[in-house]
Amino acid sequence: MDHFMNFINGEWVEALSGDRSMTHNPARISEELGTFPKCSAQDVERAIGAAQDAFSTWAATPAPARGAILLKASQLLEARLQETAQAMTREEGKTLAESRAEVGRAVEILRFFAGEGWRSGGAVYPSSVAGELLYSRREPLGVVSIITPWNFPIAIPAWKIAPALVYGNTVVFKPAGHGEQSGLALVQAFADAGLPPGVLNFITGPGSVMGQALVSSPTVKGVSFTGSHPVGTHIYTQAIPNLSRVQLEMGGKNPMVVLDDADLDLAVTLAARSGFGLTGQACTAASRIIVQNGIADRFRTGLEAIARKWVIGDGLDPATNMGPAVSQAQLETDLEYIQVGQSEGARLVAGGAAGPEGGYFIQPTLFDEVHVGMRLAQEEIFGPVICLIRVENLDEAIERANSISFGLSASIMTRDLHKAFHFANAVEAGVVKVNEPTTGLAVNAPFGGFKNSSANTFKEQGPAALEFYTRQKTIYVNHG
Ligand code: NAD
Repeated sequence: MDHFMNFINGEWVEALSGDRSMTHNPARISEELGTFPKCSAQDVERAIGAAQDAFSTWAATPAPARGAILLKASQLLEARLQETAQAMTREEGKTLAESRAEVGRAVEILRFFAGEGWRSGGAVYPSSVAGELLYSRREPLGVVSIITPWNFPIAIPAWKIAPALVYGNTVVFKPAGHGEQSGLALVQAFADAGLPPGVLNFITGPGSVMGQALVSSPTVKGVSFTGSHPVGTHIYTQAIPNLSRVQLEMGGKNPMVVLDDADLDLAVTLAARSGFGLTGQACTAASRIIVQNGIADRFRTGLEAIARKWVIGDGLDPATNMGPAVSQAQLETDLEYIQVGQSEGARLVAGGAAGPEGGYFIQPTLFDEVHVGMRLAQEEIFGPVICLIRVENLDEAIERANSISFGLSASIMTRDLHKAFHFANAVEAGVVKVNEPTTGLAVNAPFGGFKNSSANTFKEQGPAALEFYTRQKTIYVNHG
């Protein structure tokens, strides 16, 4: 069993209280993985202080030199990909293939933002005054707090921390429970790559205890959060008095529309991957499949067959298609929503039960005859539960897709380009896919939701990250 530590000011330290909490394998509940420091507000203040002390030197470090450290970190993480992926599967439960893909993605993110050290300049503007140079430059914000969920425990920290660092900010990073070890692997890669002390600080513990200090400290100039809608909106109100910059990416209840002309096999395969893949624990998971009447029966039969066929088990076993729910609480939430769906009159077609024994396992679950007004069709479950909503035509499908408070991702399966573009323009979602799963994102394009899926302030990733992690200064120089 491992004894993990915080990383503050370049040193591996305990929580000031000495308190620790245990983490265990969700696929083998009796297997204890290790303990992490249980931090309080005092630890947060210590980490913020270290980040503030490191800021001016890091901000003055040439951006290509900062990028070189990111590049080195990407190489170290790539060399450790297998062991990092195995640890991720043990702590979070996703299959080894899913963990490998995620660590590989974190490597790519670091590599992409390493290059930003050479690219992110300002702009020169034509001046209306003779002899005047008019230009703008990008400056880092200062100390930023980064708060992440457990479901992508290395990719999400990477897509926040990498741009924060390369643009010259210093960071206090708090991962979620069930995601600490993966977060630590990222921090370790930065530490080994030669990041100076205090530039990146890592503290673990309960968000409810540490959150206020992370968000409302006047030293913190930016807060980047990914997680649930209730926690995100709470954070927003806490950050307002400081007028600090806030980015929130939150829940989803994402639609995949399947039209009569779709490639049936592809639609079934991608629906299963989007809805049951990652045990349904992806913010971009497809939990509402809106299917046109002409193809609906054949589509349901295909998806039902996959739901019955998929092997549930320990993600380290290569035969496993779907790992466990991350925790007892998440498993109970999944089962509770399955009960709710049945009591609302939806028809349970496949799955619906926990099992096998020994882990927080749940069967891939499919409901038919779901109506948009049901809680089953409106609330984020975050488990492998797919609802089928049947419609007459595309317009009705778009209306159903948009009848929800969330707006993260959406996809359509069709061979008709006109219909595909009409959907892409009309659907209320920050990410739209055509003949692709609702999940999966490019590292170099903006990502973020609409409506209650986001604070609707700043997007993440690609060029959008520059907007969040820098402020612009405009300079007038009269040399005439
Ligand atoms: P969560 O909201 O419970 O926790 C997220 C993080 O916030 C954790 O680190 C947690 O410790 C911390 N936290 C909890 N209370 C806090 C408080 N009062 N102040 C500050 N921080 C606090 O979410 P989760 O269960 O870890 O993750 C699942 C959720 O994340 C789902 O809703 C999912 O849709 C969402 N998610 C969204 C995206 C996206 O990009 N939109 C991506 C992945 C996950």
